[in-house]
Amino acid sequence: MKINSRWTVPIPQCSLQQWIFGSATGSLPEAQAFIDPERPDTNFLTLSDYRLLSKRVALGLKKAGLKVGDRVLLFSGNSLFFPPIFLGILMAGGVFTGANPTFVPRELAYQLRDSEASFLIVAESAKETTFEAAKEAGLPKDRIFVLGGDTLGSETARSLNPGPGINGRVQGARHWTELLTGNLSEAQTWSWEEPSDPASATCALNYSSGTTGVPKGVEITHYSYVANGVGVGYCNDLDPEHEEKGKRARGLCFLPMYHAYGQTYFVANMPHRRTPVYIMPSFDFVKLLEYVQRFRITALLCVPPIIVLLAKHPLTKQFDLSSVESLGSGAAPLTREVSEEAERLFPKSDITVRQGWGMTEMTCSAMSWDPRILGKSAGVGEMMPNTAAKLMALDGKTEITKAGERGELWVNGPTMMRGYWRKPEATADTLFVEPDGTRWLKTGDIAYVEDYKPGAIFHVVDRLKELIKVKGNQVAPAELEGVLLDSPDVLDAAVVGVTIKGEEVPRAYVVRDPKSSATEKGVADWMATKVARYKQLKGGVAFTDTIPKNPSGKIIRKLLRERAQKEVGDG
Ligand code: AMP
Repeated sequence: MKINSRWTVPIPQCSLQQWIFGSATGSLPEAQAFIDPERPDTNFLTLSDYRLLSKRVALGLKKAGLKVGDRVLLFSGNSLFFPPIFLGILMAGGVFTGANPTFVPRELAYQLRDSEASFLIVAESAKETTFEAAKEAGLPKDRIFVLGGDTLGSETARSLNPGPGINGRVQGARHWTELLTGNLSEAQTWSWEEPSDPASATCALNYSSGTTGVPKGVEITHYSYVANGVGVGYCNDLDPEHEEKGKRARGLCFLPMYHAYGQTYFVANMPHRRTPVYIMPSFDFVKLLEYVQRFRITALLCVPPIIVLLAKHPLTKQFDLSSVESLGSGAAPLTREVSEEAERLFPKSDITVRQGWGMTEMTCSAMSWDPRILGKSAGVGEMMPNTAAKLMALDGKTEITKAGERGELWVNGPTMMRGYWRKPEATADTLFVEPDGTRWLKTGDIAYVEDYKPGAIFHVVDRLKELIKVKGNQVAPAELEGVLLDSPDVLDAAVVGVTIKGEEVPRAYVVRDPKSSATEKGVADWMATKVARYKQLKGGVAFTDTIPKNPSGKIIRKLLRERAQKEVGDG
């Protein structure tokens, strides 16, 4: 039985940039949009800087040859320039795709090839990885632009605006400021072209493995980004004090902006709401505490390991965190016990850790809490505006109708992806289309709902899909299995997630070639050279005689997950 959201909210038919800025040339408040917390007095972008810099990137990309629909891959940690590059790509009619900045060349080359990106903009520290990947994927070097330094302080963001003074140099590649050269005055009056149908205008490929297989480009449209922002904003404004709170709101971004979570909140939603965002280049817990105290941060958007740190790290009590008014968690499960420990840090303000549920294939969040509800629960909230959900028995045909009964979560709404980029089969496997055309996203998550009525609270309790989540990052078993199978020591392999000390990590079962003398540790060490650090086999490698498979050759992951949990898991 379907559960609708309690709210239907109109969604403007416009581009994401139009929604954020209101117009291409109209006046904007001089408020700060993005601030480098290390140099807050000099390194910041106001809202109009943000728009102008984005327009300059757009003009530069067009001049460099970008056509409508072309993909641009941004391979960088967070910086003040990440949001204007993101929006610049959109303003030029291009499609953004972002890669994890810790990727090794093979991983980057895969995304380059899969997205068929025409341009690559990369952090200087990732230059070598990039050149190797670009060579592998056949992208000419003159399509690569390098961001001078990957730290926020390496360039003064505002000095880019006056035009001259752009003198960035990088050895062996084009500096990204080439994109801005000589286009300041043109950009001031230039307007981007609005998409004729925002609901079919893909503007990002955010990579996700979904329920099965290797990472795929999730096609998100302008309309879906706007719908996501409208839904998040609507829920926020249900708080009777939202106007007062909005005036003092300050965000701190330590989540990666290449991922839907960091991207939607910090690149789009907060600037739309005129909430200043302090941008951290990467996650650093002690700095996070320092910045919260120093800049009176009000909103912390976290993943569970960060809530655990807040709850347990001895340093937290040495900082004044009293400015924090909202504490959110998403991307992976979080227990109520840990949330309660974290809540004790805020004895005066009675803060509740609110868990949301989301998925890259739903742009970002699809379940959240009405701020008027206390919500001290392990649940992930109710369906956000304009969305609906149902729970399906594991046969995929029978709808569950009883409160508390578990099933696979299916969701829909305007934030749902168009599909997987150039992967019609994977799209057809993931989306269920009813005879009337209604599309449902099969999430691969197991959930139950407290009641069968709009506004009922959902609990996500297990995962049916292969996906492993390491500190909120996606790890696709199929990808790791593919890498393992490339090893001459390996005849067959399967990778599953196992929870060790409360954290999910990948563990491999490997059938060793009889001619090989490799050890289990040797295979794990070899893998460590082939994948980004967060994908390493921290759950270990175990040799086995066979990989359990069903008659059609699919790995029976459930058996291996149980085995892994018994062998090395928390029990
Ligand atoms: P991603 O596409 O990287 O955002 O990952 C989406 C997946 O993360 C979901 O399908 C869930 O498996 C998991 N996830 C997200 N939020 C939660 C949550 N609050 N509790 C449990 N799992 C979650």
